[in-house]
Amino acid sequence: MTKIMFHEDACKGCELCIEFCPKNLITLASRFNDKGFHPATVENTDKCVGCAICARMCPDVAIEIEEIPFERGAAVNA
Ligand code: SF4
Ligand code: SF4
Repeated sequence: MTKIMFHEDACKGCELCIEFCPKNLITLASRFNDKGFHPATVENTDKCVGCAICARMCPDVAIEIEEIPFERGAAVNA
């Protein structure tokens, strides 16, 4: 399983990630980031297949894909 994270203040709204996401999941938010750009975001994260194409395309390293280890049964040390 993967988790996608956007570092919104690093985004310059170039839309490269939007162009290359094979699932068309990425949009620009209507809010502004600290740099004055509309940052890229994903609303429907459960549809993300974790291909990391968006992260590789981003010239500003604003997207991180994290692998979440599969947990079996109840959490340990919960
Ligand atoms: S990891 Fe792949 S599917 Fe998920 S948002 Fe990025 S490009 Fe789209
Ligand atoms: S490729 Fe990077 S800088 Fe460009 S819109 Fe996507 S997250 Fe922002």
